[in-house]
Formats: sequence, C-alpha cells, structure tokens
Amino acid sequence: MQIPLLDLKKQYDEIKDEIQEAINDVLESTRYVLGEHVQKLEEEIADYTGTKYGIGVASGTDALLLSLHALDIGPGDEVIVPTFTFFATAGVVSRLGATPVFADIDPFSYNITPEEIEDKITDKTKAVIPVHLYGQPAEMDKIMDIAKNYNLKVVEDACQAIGAEYKETKVGNFGDATALSFFPSKNLGGYGDGGMILTNNRDLADRLKSLRVHGAEPKYFHKEVGYNSRLDAIQAAILRVKLKYLDEWTKGRQRVAKTYDKLFKENGLDQKIVLPRKKVEDSTHVYHQYVIRVENRDKLQKHLQEKSISTAIYYPEPLHLQECYQDLGYNEGDLTVAEKACEEVLALPIDPKLNEEQIKYITDKFLKVL
Ligand SMILES: *Cc1c(COP(=O)(O)O)cnc(C)c1O
Repeated sequence: MQIPLLDLKKQYDEIKDEIQEAINDVLESTRYVLGEHVQKLEEEIADYTGTKYGIGVASGTDALLLSLHALDIGPGDEVIVPTFTFFATAGVVSRLGATPVFADIDPFSYNITPEEIEDKITDKTKAVIPVHLYGQPAEMDKIMDIAKNYNLKVVEDACQAIGAEYKETKVGNFGDATALSFFPSKNLGGYGDGGMILTNNRDLADRLKSLRVHGAEPKYFHKEVGYNSRLDAIQAAILRVKLKYLDEWTKGRQRVAKTYDKLFKENGLDQKIVLPRKKVEDSTHVYHQYVIRVENRDKLQKHLQEKSISTAIYYPEPLHLQECYQDLGYNEGDLTVAEKACEEVLALPIDPKLNEEQIKYITDKFLKVL
C-alpha cells in the first residue's frame, strides 16, 4: 500500500471537468491577471470567512509582506513572530527592513503563546504575527488583549488555517489583516502560487489594492512605491471551483484526524507519542497537518518510508537558529520548546479521502516500531 501525504491527482480527477471549464473560460476571456474571476473570488472568500474585504495577491508570502507594509512596518521596528513556523512569517519582516523577534511556542498546540509575546515586547515592538499553525487557531483573545494594551498591530498568518474557527468566529476577523496562501498543498490550493489578504478595514483594503499594482491609484499615477503582486485569473477561476468543496475536504481531514486519535488510543500508542491537542475548547482545527511528537522520530520516519508511507517534518529547524539570522545573536537553548519540537514532530498523511483501512495500516506500522 502506497500512502502519500496528500493525493492531489485524485482530487483533480474528481473535479477535472469543472476545472477545465473554468480554465477555458479564462483563456477565452483574454483577461489573465486580476479581472472578474479574481474579484468574485475575493468576494466569495470574504463571504466564506465572514470578513469584509479580500485582496488577491501573488502568494501567501506576499499577503504577509503587503499587510505589514500597509501597516507601516519598516526599519527600526520589531515584529514578534513564532520561531516555529514556515520561514515566510519572519522573512517578510526582514524584507521590510524591520527585525523579527522570535518567541517560543506552546508544547501541545505548537502555536505562539500570549505569555511569550508579552515577554518579548520592547519599546520598538510594532506588531505581532500569530500563526495558526497546522490549522489550529492561536489564542486570539489573549493576543488581542496584549496588542491593545501595548498598541501593537496584528497580522494573522492563516496560510494553514482557512476556515478554522476561534470561539465560533473564523480566523481572519481578529487581526488588522490576515494572510491566506493558495500554494497547491494548502487546504485551499491552486495550481500554482497565489494568496489573499483579508481585512475588515476599508482604508487598509484600499491601500493594499494599490500596493499590489505598484502603488498606483489611478493607473500610472503612483502614490507610493508598491509591488507587482497580483492573483492570476486562472488561479482565481480554479480556486472558485475548489472553494465549493473546501468544507467537505475539511470535514474529511477532521475525520482522518479523529480516526488516527481513535486508533492510536486503542493501541495504547498515546502513551508513546504525543497526539495533536486542542488548546481552546470552542475552536476548530482544520488539520492542514496532523502532527504527532515522538522520540526517535527519524528512525520511525525511515521505517514508515520503507513501508511506502509518506511523512514530513514541519519544521526541522527553528527560525532563530537559521543561518540567515545568525547576526540576530540567538543561541541554541534560547527557545527550548520549539527546539525540542523540531526534533520530535512528524506530519502524517492527511488526505481528506484516506479511509479507515489505510489509517489502520499506518498505525499498525507504528505498533511494530514502538
Ligand atoms: C505556506 C505558508 C506561508 C507562505 O505562503 P506561500 O503562498 O507559499 O508564499 C506563510 N506562512 C505559513 C505558516 C505557511 O504555511
């Protein structure tokens, strides 16, 4: 049995006709950048998340970058980010000439903790980027309280968490702006790069729309220096088709996660591995990844690979210890929870269509090694 992390080919085969029709529609229209499909997608995703404005951009990374830019983050500013996340969360801070300040995480949710945020605040701190890692919302109530007290901007990194709810409100409604990614392997993935910014702030939305077209408003008249960061019409048309299936796919991921939980517990394996845990009771986890922790992770991964079970390590190195951030002066031992997580986390196959038999095949292999 061959089990990939995610089976995008199978997903494509199921919606092929609709996708090809959507692509064809764009090809015939000759409107390939922005345009009607992008505008409709922006409205549909704003609707879906309960936010007011969606601004389609070239990637999730750009969604973060333009958001910080529109919030006037620049040289001399500090932005607090978790050290345990995809690199883009911190990279965008550096690209604006500001300094990422790394914070440690909760050992069970893997999200940045409110306590760590407060601990890292200085008089240069201008913003914080909570990441809803693996699809589980960060503790937004406490984070927003801290932001209010210290007058900080908040950009939610929801690149892994579209549709996740924190206390019955979808992510995207807490911070000043929120970044979504449509990278192919994300919960809502296109067939190339793409991203979107969500905001409930009209002025910010207007500025972001100008920033993505070189700061022009109207065309050829530049208020400020911006970017070329637009969503392609083909991606938007594809994403509009896929958005209709997102809830169904999310339910599939949640079902897979529940089945792993059940089988691991039935076999007593929850004594040997740390299962994903919900931090806030009335929140939902959309399981972009199902991530466990285990000692001797590398040995286990190798064994699973030999049995044709794909797994992945998100992430093998915390950001504060990355080579490109050596000059920031962090050392091993500075952010210990994240450092330990890097050695122990393992993401298991999470395709929404995995069946119980396949999941049992996977958990049986765990039994053999542990
Ligand atoms: C994927 C991802 C990004 C970047 O998105 P791209 O579309 O690949 O640029 C940023 N942050 C997190 C947490 C991500 O998972």
